[in-house]
Amino acid sequence: MGDYESSKLDHENHLLLDQPLLQLPVELLRKNLRSARFEVEKDGSFVKETLKKTVTDNVGGRISQQDALKTLDSMIARMRGVKRKLTAFSEEENRLHRHEEVRVKHLAELYGMHTVDDVKYEGWSRTRLDRLLTDYLLRQGYVDSAKALAKERGIELLVDIDTFEQMNRIRRCLLNGSVQEALAWCTAGDTKKELRKMDSNLEFMLRYQQYIEIVRNRSQTKPDEALAHARKHLFPYRDMYKTEVMHACGLLGILPEYVSRVEAYKELYAPARWQMLADLFTTTHHSLLSLPPIPLLHIALSSGLSALKTPACHSIHPNSAAAPSHHTSLSLATSVCPICSTELNELARNVPHALHSKSHVEPDLLLLPNGRAYGKARLEEYAKKANLGDGQIKDLRTGQLYRVDELKKVYIT
Ligand SMILES: [Zn+2]
Repeated sequence: MGDYESSKLDHENHLLLDQPLLQLPVELLRKNLRSARFEVEKDGSFVKETLKKTVTDNVGGRISQQDALKTLDSMIARMRGVKRKLTAFSEEENRLHRHEEVRVKHLAELYGMHTVDDVKYEGWSRTRLDRLLTDYLLRQGYVDSAKALAKERGIELLVDIDTFEQMNRIRRCLLNGSVQEALAWCTAGDTKKELRKMDSNLEFMLRYQQYIEIVRNRSQTKPDEALAHARKHLFPYRDMYKTEVMHACGLLGILPEYVSRVEAYKELYAPARWQMLADLFTTTHHSLLSLPPIPLLHIALSSGLSALKTPACHSIHPNSAAAPSHHTSLSLATSVCPICSTELNELARNVPHALHSKSHVEPDLLLLPNGRAYGKARLEEYAKKANLGDGQIKDLRTGQLYRVDELKKVYIT
């Protein structure tokens, strides 16, 4: 059955998982452009305002020539700063274009192959596996291992080390009880605006945590600090986050040593909140950059397991004669089933069976008394080769001899 049909490469389906490979640089380019525009607008409006004020002051004789010159100098300095920032944005843009170019080339290589038997295919799919492994390591926080693997395989431009390194750094800070880095991420450039468009609650939850920490340590902070923080960062959102704002007010009325007695407030002081914030940050980060929420390795693995899994893989008596296992009865070619291997069996337990629209069972199946079934043509061919007497056949696998009238025809319904 190793015919052309089954080894033919379906390029579109093959690249289904690779969309993020091209999408992330595009998202980062958009982000880069938006940040550049943000800087130009911010400093541009400063210069415009200052210029207008200086001109009117000058006409009205309110400032001296020397002061006017000083203001002009400060405007020039500000514009130089903009130029410096724009150079950095432009370098980042070039870097991302390089990434995109290499990625397009890598994916285009697949279109040069037409079957999985192509000699180049093995190398290509090896690179893809390395990419998936690197992506997995990066997402799990093993940045050094990911970097080493990418360097060793020469795939640095095909993986997103910088993006995940920054994400992991902020995540680690949250797990260590610091919200500053995540807040800086939320408010850098125009991220704040983008997060608002996504209806993200990340910034509010970080501010809320800041408030909880102030209240928890109120003996060391200024008396009105908690209230000032709440007024500025929590109360304006009281319609959107009613419960949180109500709990924030209540928390102020309970002494820290009594908090553990009230369920609703106990949860606010729980260390588990940091894990929740770290996970919330990761989810927000991924959806802002259109990254898949779970590692691609998981998706590839579960679809692969699903495609290979058969109902017999998890039967209670996999090897008993009464319930012959799928990998010993029907086909000689698949003598080892990957799903029945010790490494993959547990992993495959909860994945569904794939829908196989094409059957790979031999035609004219005959059932032997030992519970095995083979195609009639193959049995006859084997009997001829083995020089068996008339009306005799031999089990292709076990070598047991039977009479033809002992065989039963198998009907698949
Ligand atoms: Zn199996």
